[in-house]
Amino acid sequence: MGKAAERAGRDPSSVTLVAVSKKIPPAAIRQAVESGVRELGENYVQELCEKQAALAFLADLGVSWHYIGRLQKNKAKDVVGRVALLHGVDSSELARIVDKHAQAHGILQDVLVQVNVAGEATKAGIPPADLPGLLETVAPLSGIRCLGLTTIPPPATFPEENRRHFRVLAKLAAQHHLPHLSMGMSDDFEVAIEEGATLVRIGTAIFGPRRS
Ligand SMILES: *Cc1c(COP(=O)(O)O)cnc(C)c1O
Repeated sequence: MGKAAERAGRDPSSVTLVAVSKKIPPAAIRQAVESGVRELGENYVQELCEKQAALAFLADLGVSWHYIGRLQKNKAKDVVGRVALLHGVDSSELARIVDKHAQAHGILQDVLVQVNVAGEATKAGIPPADLPGLLETVAPLSGIRCLGLTTIPPPATFPEENRRHFRVLAKLAAQHHLPHLSMGMSDDFEVAIEEGATLVRIGTAIFGPRRS
């Protein structure tokens, strides 16, 4: 990560590692934290809740959790307030629901909006054309704050194939003055960092293959 940042002329500290711990048992997560990981990403609500309970002591070490990936509207109430950053807000309706629960808890929930930059019908995320409308919806809400954008590009044979998608996302974030870009996974994080990622979500390259 550090090398990719330096190659891109960026300060390595401007890129945060989110270690994706889905389907990884608590003992291995604990080890990762012992070796320096401070941000953990989960994308199943129930698993997130169970791990936070099993690993409650991590909070004292300054570890924070991220919810990555798709969030069903009816599960939003279980995630709001549990995570430092909720990646993957993909509709105005979900944004309003998150806001409502955050206000009920008296907190401000930081989120990222997920954009479908590759334009595939099957993938989550809003089309780039819908981004201004969604940001307008979020702006006046006092329980939710959008810090940036995220995307999950289609499966690629070579990391280079995703560069153009990352570039589109970076451009959109710059246009809207959003400071954070969550992009890049185990196979393509270097390219993502070169294109401006501030958060990379890495699972396999840290923990090895997941048990499913
Ligand atoms: C699983 C997952 C990752 C991590 O993928 P790896 O290829 O294991 O690094 C990153 N982002 C999201 C949204 C995921 O669901």
